[in-house]
Amino acid sequence: MSAAKKRSASKPSRRSRRKESGARFQNLTAALAEIGRSFYQRGWVFGTSGNFSAVVSERPLRLAITPTGLDKGALGAEQFLEIDEAARVLRGDGLPSAETGLHLAIVRTCGAGAVLHTHSLWSTLLSDFFAADGAVALEGFEMLKGLRDVHTHEHREILPILENCQDIAQLAEKVQALLKRDPAVHAFLLRRHGLYTWGQDLAEAKRHVEVLEFLLEILGRSRTGV
Ligand SMILES: [Zn+2]
Repeated sequence: MSAAKKRSASKPSRRSRRKESGARFQNLTAALAEIGRSFYQRGWVFGTSGNFSAVVSERPLRLAITPTGLDKGALGAEQFLEIDEAARVLRGDGLPSAETGLHLAIVRTCGAGAVLHTHSLWSTLLSDFFAADGAVALEGFEMLKGLRDVHTHEHREILPILENCQDIAQLAEKVQALLKRDPAVHAFLLRRHGLYTWGQDLAEAKRHVEVLEFLLEILGRSRTGV
């Protein structure tokens, strides 16, 4: 076999790569839409808040992401957008989430495969309650074992709190610095705003949201007696 034929036999064509990435985009957006419905029902993304993304391809970087301003409880898979590393829309109609820069910063810095952001009651309340400490500490709970690489309840998980800011580029720089400084963190809070977490894939990111929302509610209820 000639060298050129060998190359074409081992390397998928551009058309088959596009087809593969199209199928992956569809699978991811169906899963993201399901997450939107589920998180809305749990009260974590009311009033068009929250945003979700998943990596469609790493090289070149392509993300499936929620469009801005839509109800996450009623979002169809066909409403998601595909963007590149500069947040340019490559597929779908509308503008990507206003907080797209944070998703890109997390994916670039941690190599995350998916990023999920909620505006839940407990993450909002506790991010303010512990703002002076600069972090929320979660410690001694069995549920912590749901976090990646945590194998015992005797674990102290620190959720750093960043001041909220409408300048997303500036906030993205702070997020990047935070994640470079402490690559072991699984999540962070934006003050009076909500929770950001991520995972190697969408299933892991969803599990992290469920674990952290559960633990934040435990901490919140134990502190407030509600
Ligand atoms: Zn938000």
